Amino acid sequence: MQTAPIPATTPSDADARRAVAPVICYPNETLPTPDMALCARARAAAEKTAEVLVPPRQAATFHVPAGGFFRITSVGGPQVGDLNLWNAHDLAERFYSGKTRALHGTHVTTGQRLWSSFPMLRPMATITADTLGWYGKDAYGGSVHDVIGTRCDPYTGNLLAGSQYHQCCHSNLTRAVADEIGLPLASAEPLVHDVLNVFMCTGFTRDTGQYFMKASPVRPGDYLEFFAEIDLLGALSACPGGDCSAEHSSDSAACYPLLVEVFTTPPDALAGWQSPAPNGYDRSHGR
Ligand SMILES: [Zn+2]
Repeated sequence: MQTAPIPATTPSDADARRAVAPVICYPNETLPTPDMALCARARAAAEKTAEVLVPPRQAATFHVPAGGFFRITSVGGPQVGDLNLWNAHDLAERFYSGKTRALHGTHVTTGQRLWSSFPMLRPMATITADTLGWYGKDAYGGSVHDVIGTRCDPYTGNLLAGSQYHQCCHSNLTRAVADEIGLPLASAEPLVHDVLNVFMCTGFTRDTGQYFMKASPVRPGDYLEFFAEIDLLGALSACPGGDCSAEHSSDSAACYPLLVEVFTTPPDALAGWQSPAPNGYDRSHGR
């Protein structure tokens, strides 16, 4: 039976339809919750074992053992960072920003987690400290540490402005990963994925729904800290947008380094903790 097409005119009950209250797509009360008391005990016992200073408009990689921590700190001036994470033993398992957004919302803070790609879909890292947690949501709907952006990249720049710019986060991450695992750029590039935008202040405009950015409230000394739920390879790019108050994808913004510090936890301080198991779906997909 064919249904007659509906003309694209406003129906008489349009307001009533718009007034329907939303429901949360993924109620998250049943998500396994992180043991923040255990994280605090582990953090108190953890000792710094590595650090890397990410230069402006560059990226750097780092390793974090499961049960350890990593901290990203603003140093020198306001600067946002684009973060990628992988399972250190299987680069196919990587941070899944879209599902993290679906589970936690557009921006993340203390007590929320970064989830990995299918078929693992498990916590890779739990945020244990956020000195910008006070920011909340501003009058524009903006907030910090978003999982709604992708990463600045040279392809979009070329599409919009015909540019050939090589210091976008996508390229910075590609070079850093290529150097880390000894692959040519073309092989490393597909490993780069959508990021956690550390310290970046973003939202969607209320009228057009467009992705916006504004000057990050980050001050030198502010940091975001994570508990590593699995052995991690991380890569962080100090975005060419600097504080992202004006533009990215060029050398015009003032840019500063970002410090990454890694802390290793002694095994006795992790008693009772287990690295999360892979997702329990049987993967038969109905066959
Ligand atoms: Zn960027």
